[in-house]
Amino acid sequence: MSEISAIGLGLMGAALVQALHGAGHGLTVWNRTPEKMRPFIDAGVDAAGSAAEAVDSSPVILLCIDNYAISNELLSSPEIASRLPGKTVIQLSTGTPREAQETADWMREQGVSYLDGAILAGPNDIGSDNSTILVCGDEDIHAACANLLARLGRVRYLGPNIRAASALDLAWLCAAYGRFMAVAQAALICDSESVGMDEFAHLFAENSLTRRNAGVVHEQSFADCTATLKVWRAALMRIQQQGRDAGINTDFPDHVADILQRAESAGHGEQHVMAMIKVMSASAT
Ligand code: NAP
Repeated sequence: MSEISAIGLGLMGAALVQALHGAGHGLTVWNRTPEKMRPFIDAGVDAAGSAAEAVDSSPVILLCIDNYAISNELLSSPEIASRLPGKTVIQLSTGTPREAQETADWMREQGVSYLDGAILAGPNDIGSDNSTILVCGDEDIHAACANLLARLGRVRYLGPNIRAASALDLAWLCAAYGRFMAVAQAALICDSESVGMDEFAHLFAENSLTRRNAGVVHEQSFADCTATLKVWRAALMRIQQQGRDAGINTDFPDHVADILQRAESAGHGEQHVMAMIKVMSASAT
């Protein structure tokens, strides 16, 4: 029996597992595409042959996959649902407050302890003070998992309101989409006036995200990323969905989503999100 089973070894899931393994926690991992488990098996981590086996292997299940719809479909399959009662599930995929609420309600009905969380960091920062992990749910469940969660970054426990972590995550993400749009427009201005994008980048502090995003455009280094344009677009769709659910204005996410959708349709989904600039070059008039 291991301490925790991690389901999902994408760019972020792999970083979470690395941090937990590096801190000495006993882990079992499972990923739909088995090849992604290989480096972890080589590093001495247990790999499950199926998601059901991963659930059987630990009292705590950590989820970090595309979205709640996929993870809920996986967990509610009869083979897995029957194994869940008595377990603790920590959801760290990006979702909406409504999805968090519905998932928590379903988990309670199944007799599962549930924490809803969100990661405010990129994979390279996991395990450091630059990573913030938002968590909400029952206080006792959080206390029981606090040690594990602390390995992933600075944990902010938001209390029992199960909608809080995803709400704050989506609000926080808005700042990132604003920055992407600002850098893209800046690139168009610089290009049209024959000013180097590196000059724009240097207007910002060395470690600032604006400078990093501007650098990606300047160097055209779109192949190198820790979160793909596709993943950023999926998270943006969660912001749009929250807006529809809450009946609030969505002009801003709708505008950015239109650009990211065109970029993904043009085949840039696996690239850095700043590859959005590739579908913004044509004049709007
Ligand atoms: P990713 O690299 O695209 O990985 C996606 C993961 O989901 C993979 O393990 C994939 O399995 C799995 N998956 C997709 N569909 C599945 C299915 N039908 N059944 C089982 N597994 C499935 O994405 P990521 O960057 O790791 O992001 C994962 C989550 O973390 C997302 O919700 C994202 O918003 C969130 N997040 C990411 C970042 C970041 O910087 N990357 C930051 C904060 C939050 P396969 O390997 O088999 O495709």
